[in-house]
Amino acid sequence: MKNLVVATLFLFSFYGISQTLLKPDRVFDGTEMHENWVVLVQGNTITQVGPEDRMAIPKKTKIIDLSGTTLLPGLIEGHSHLLLHPYNETSWNDQVLKESPVERSIRGVVHAKNSLMAGITTMRDLGSEGAGYSDVYLKKSIDAGIVPGPRLLVAGPAIVATGAYGPKGFHDGVTVPLGAEAASGNEVVKTVRRQLGNGADFIKIYADYRWRSGEASNPTFSLQEIQLMNETAKSAGRYIVAHASTPEGMRRAILGGAETIEHGDHGTLEVFQLMKEKGVALCPTLAAGDAVSQYNGWQKGRDPEPDRIVQKRASFKLALQAGVTIAFGGDVGVFSHGDNVRELQMMVDYGMEPLAVLQAATSVNAQVFHQDALGKLEKGFLADIIAVEGNPTTDISKMRAVQFVMKDGRVYKQP
Ligand SMILES: [Zn+2]
Repeated sequence: MKNLVVATLFLFSFYGISQTLLKPDRVFDGTEMHENWVVLVQGNTITQVGPEDRMAIPKKTKIIDLSGTTLLPGLIEGHSHLLLHPYNETSWNDQVLKESPVERSIRGVVHAKNSLMAGITTMRDLGSEGAGYSDVYLKKSIDAGIVPGPRLLVAGPAIVATGAYGPKGFHDGVTVPLGAEAASGNEVVKTVRRQLGNGADFIKIYADYRWRSGEASNPTFSLQEIQLMNETAKSAGRYIVAHASTPEGMRRAILGGAETIEHGDHGTLEVFQLMKEKGVALCPTLAAGDAVSQYNGWQKGRDPEPDRIVQKRASFKLALQAGVTIAFGGDVGVFSHGDNVRELQMMVDYGMEPLAVLQAATSVNAQVFHQDALGKLEKGFLADIIAVEGNPTTDISKMRAVQFVMKDGRVYKQP
């Protein structure tokens, strides 16, 4: 067996498949932290992980000294909008109404690069918000190597119930571009099929929303409609995820087959227990509510926390109490792309252990998003690897100090 390994390594070096040894202070493998481990990469694959003295390092291996850092699997952002930029720069309405999909795609190129440099090597994008299939085309451009960016899993336009989404406030004779595609009744089947055919990797639905600007959310799709969309997606080998923040919207989405619930702000213990029972993960988007509250005038750290934040802290606690799988997803785009770590910091602030937060951002998200070769530093996994300064389990803010980024075996950032 050992001879075979040596022969294979010889062949790899003979044919010029590059080997790189990454030497940090410690390795977070997606599950646990290991002091003094190293990682060997060949081409785009991780081939060995462990203490260096127990590994057979081939001659001519390139060594990258990452002392002072922790090596981690590339981060997997679970809820982004690459085609949006912070609402305190331009309101969501104005972005949808006044910025063309071309302008938004150009911005998206910059956002994708900023995300990758911040250590996000995979990103689930949860809807183009009025920019059609620009996310599909951005993904295609990244995959073709035209522009740098994370591996993308994209939703395309997303689906809302007729009448339930914005921009709103126009008389009925004015046609405005909607932030998602509207459908109702049996028509939802056609809409799912069209979106999948046009390149959506999964289907994002809105299970509840504000029927009028300024009011509280209420359920949108019936359970039957959600089941129809789920069956249609499932039969095509895909799945649905749901925006939901009301208990009834969440309940319908869970029973209807959604694999993740996005936001979940008003979830009750009962609803979270149902999620746990059905194996549905929560993408809490803590950072989005926090950002919007600040845009609305809340001086964080000076003023008392507004109701929205108090409520969010309480419901997140209930989700943890019920043992719901927590995904990392901050709704980045509402705040700056590249500032994804905000969500990780808030997950700790709202009651999660730093190690569990790192798991959520790597192995847990990989599993929830069906990415079998990502999220772990283990033999045979794809070489999506980052290094951050210091030890993020003792100080989660270290996740901001990204020193090294490798995606698919290619180095994008190096000290
Ligand atoms: Zn979102």
